Amino acid sequence: MTFTYHIADSRADALQRLSAAKTLPVAGGTDLVPCAEEGILSPAAVVDIRRIPGFRDVSVGPQGVTIGAAVTIASLATHAELRAQYPMLAEACASVGTPALRNSGTIGGNLVQRHHCWYFRRGVGCFKRGGTQCAAVDGEHQYHGIVADGTCRAVHPSDPAVALLALDAQVEIFREDGRVRMLDIAALYDGASRDPLKEAQLDDGELIVAVHLPIAAANGRQHWEKVMQRGAWDFALVSVAACRRSDGSVRMAMGGLGLAPWRVPDSIEEDVASGGLDEDSIDALVERAFYDMEPLAGNAYKRVMGQGVLKRAITALDA
Ligand SMILES: Cc1cc2nc3c(=O)[nH]c(=O)nc-3n(C[C@H](O)[C@H](O)[C@H](O)COP(=O)(O)OP(=O)(O)OC[C@H]3O[C@@H](n4cnc5c(N)ncnc54)[C@H](O)[C@@H]3O)c2cc1C
Repeated sequence: MTFTYHIADSRADALQRLSAAKTLPVAGGTDLVPCAEEGILSPAAVVDIRRIPGFRDVSVGPQGVTIGAAVTIASLATHAELRAQYPMLAEACASVGTPALRNSGTIGGNLVQRHHCWYFRRGVGCFKRGGTQCAAVDGEHQYHGIVADGTCRAVHPSDPAVALLALDAQVEIFREDGRVRMLDIAALYDGASRDPLKEAQLDDGELIVAVHLPIAAANGRQHWEKVMQRGAWDFALVSVAACRRSDGSVRMAMGGLGLAPWRVPDSIEEDVASGGLDEDSIDALVERAFYDMEPLAGNAYKRVMGQGVLKRAITALDA
């Protein structure tokens, strides 16, 4: 594994470098380096984006909060205004990996990190390696997905992405030719089931410059829960981010279930928003939410666990 390394001093510098073939942005390197070692990525050059002015800033304004792409996960976990206004994002960030990872990993890199399925990472010829089957279906799949929306059963590893989905956050993306795109989180991962070779729908040369949190999602009632196999650090078996906004509307998203963070269907969010639910109605809602899930032989527990986690979230919003 060899590649050249350049530290960009401006956005224009980074974008110009990224327009060259086989050139990737790098921030903390906590996923890019393992992916390069595992033969998942093979860059000829990488461009370090952390010193670009503004990329490590969190700006709080009347329209919401703008988070530079190279802000570390640790900074987001401890940022006082984020904790006050968007607590479920801060808590999701606090639940990521270990302190060392949170201090190196950035929000941009976290959203673009590749799946951690053991077959994919170890080079088994699965869909994500250009093969024609998912090795997990007949293999070891206790941590894999129960949302059957595609061919591959890997689960998306990002905790912040789950909170950002429920917050209706948007990602700002630049390319050297002047194209600028704003994608909501669902759109960022839309296509993960159609094209198993990538999860985040970025084109070559594109750079996430910031994540925007809308003011409409600030405050209200927010709830985050992540269930892990090990308490010290781990990826989510199941997680939930749920909020009742100040206007009374409800957004709920879950992690650990599918190829992308999973948004709870609108009709269930609307029923939760109407409030006054008794335990039987909450049970009926969570049953409905998980109706289309298709667990594999060894991960049916995720349906039960996911329903329990979602029930606690609905109860917390309805209290
Ligand atoms: C042991 C371990 C445990 C972990 N546990 C968790 C966990 O519990 N929860 C969780 O959410 N994550 C977890 N992670 C993942 C970790 O959070 C990510 O590796 C990290 O956030 C990636 O950030 P980075 O800055 O290091 O990205 P990098 O490694 O620098 O980049 C990752 C990818 O993103 C691309 N990239 C980086 N920045 C940008 C940008 N601005 N625009 C476009 N593309 C970009 C790179 O080209 C590369 O493909 C874990 C990782 C490990 C190794």
